[in-house]
Amino acid sequence: MSTSTPLRVVPARADERIYVTQPHLAPLTEFLPYLEKIWDSKVLTNGGPFHQQLERALCDYLGVKHLALFTNGTLALVTALQALRITGEVITTPYSFVATAHSLLWNGIKPVFVDVDPDTLNLDPAKIEAAITPQTTAIMPVHCYGHPCDVDAIQKIADNYNLKVIYDAAHAFGVQTDSGSVLQYGDLSVLSFHATKVFNTFEGGAIICPDAKTKQRIDHLKNFGYVDEVTVVAPGINGKMSEINAAFGLLQLQHIDEALARRKEIDATYREMLRNVPGIRCVGDAGEKIANYAYFPILVESDYPLSRDALYAKFRARDVIVRRYFYPLISDFPMYRGSPSAHQDNLPVASEASLKVLCLPMYPALTVENIERIVEIIAEG
Ligand SMILES: *Cc1c(COP(=O)(O)O)cnc(C)c1O
Repeated sequence: MSTSTPLRVVPARADERIYVTQPHLAPLTEFLPYLEKIWDSKVLTNGGPFHQQLERALCDYLGVKHLALFTNGTLALVTALQALRITGEVITTPYSFVATAHSLLWNGIKPVFVDVDPDTLNLDPAKIEAAITPQTTAIMPVHCYGHPCDVDAIQKIADNYNLKVIYDAAHAFGVQTDSGSVLQYGDLSVLSFHATKVFNTFEGGAIICPDAKTKQRIDHLKNFGYVDEVTVVAPGINGKMSEINAAFGLLQLQHIDEALARRKEIDATYREMLRNVPGIRCVGDAGEKIANYAYFPILVESDYPLSRDALYAKFRARDVIVRRYFYPLISDFPMYRGSPSAHQDNLPVASEASLKVLCLPMYPALTVENIERIVEIIAEG
């Protein structure tokens, strides 16, 4: 190397690619002691010590009574439906990640799609009753973007018609309403700890349940239906979280408050910078007391100079990888679109939102400079 070439620290390029999310990872050195323990004990899975510790730690952190860890959120959804012996038809939202409805098909249940509320983009309680038939056994709403559903209105309908409620709470880690954790509502709630979620264990998930008896049934179902060495009570699945993931979850939990605080600042910065951009509407909260700022969805309205998809393409051309969550609607995928409830005339609000939405990058390591670059792309029009 020529001595005239100065050594210098290369600053992060201003045009570096920005993704919609980036996992928040605890420092690797802090994880090594956990790994040493696993290597010493040789307990890798089957409800080992880290699994038990993480279940207790999450109950304390989230303010819930019982929680069963899973390999991922999808198996937790599938198992939640089995734990409550749900059959027939289940009312759900088309405006979600596809796993919500897939968990119904995996159980031989028919999803019935109901439209969403234009402000929260959550299942609209006013439209649920009209979709109830003698075959309806449950409602599966989603706390979309971590914004709580109208839990009281949904519970009232469920009580009137004797339906179960299973919340897909994959986005709602740590979210609280005035009466505490949003995860306490309904018969069961399901979390995802996937790499893209607010709290991640690489892959992972959980079912939150109100009583020890249901938790025990769920624990059997996630371990092939085994009750003891010689007794199998149901055709259960293998849904157990491994000790590596559970140990990592315990470490991640020590860093979650700083991650949530940073998300809150980013949310406020975006809102302030986008406040005066015509044609851009930030999806508001749903009145939650403690939000988790899991996503930053905007709606590209008709008075914005570009179409949603033109803005999406422009972002990509400038190396900002935004995502259209949730487009297409679940009800537009081939395994769902044959059903009458999947028709877009039945889902005008969800259909419109799915054509307008863009989720902007949102993760704790996002810098103010990143946000400025993102907002500039939008403000140029
Ligand atoms: C992520 C997600 C799931 C699936 O969770 P996995 O842990 O990835 O299986 C289910 N529903 C919603 C709404 C999600 O966002």
